[in-house]
Amino acid sequence: MPRKKKRPKNWDGWGQNPISQERGLTYKREWGKKTYKERRREYIDKRGGVCERCSCSVSLEFHHRMPLFKTTHRIFRLSRKRIEAELAHCELLCRKPCHVKAQAELKKPKQFCGI
Ligand SMILES: [Zn+2]
Repeated sequence: MPRKKKRPKNWDGWGQNPISQERGLTYKREWGKKTYKERRREYIDKRGGVCERCSCSVSLEFHHRMPLFKTTHRIFRLSRKRIEAELAHCELLCRKPCHVKAQAELKKPKQFCGI
């Protein structure tokens, strides 16, 4: 008859269990992805849902007009207050061609940082 495995003496809950730890992480990751997408969608809708240059609505991205003031790439992970502060100097652009063009413009030394 197999003996029941006993919990170790230093057991302090599920946090020590590698399986539940892994599950917790996956759950967190999924949650982050979901809210990120929802937030992004929400703010894109708020800005009209179309590219500010060519009015198309496919694969929209936020372009930082002034990279010096850019705090992070993943802005929608921040608090709402900080998202709004970031987006104040962002432009809603479609990935191609507008965002690509905008990035190329920034690389020109003359217009660097928009200052
Ligand atoms: Zn565009």
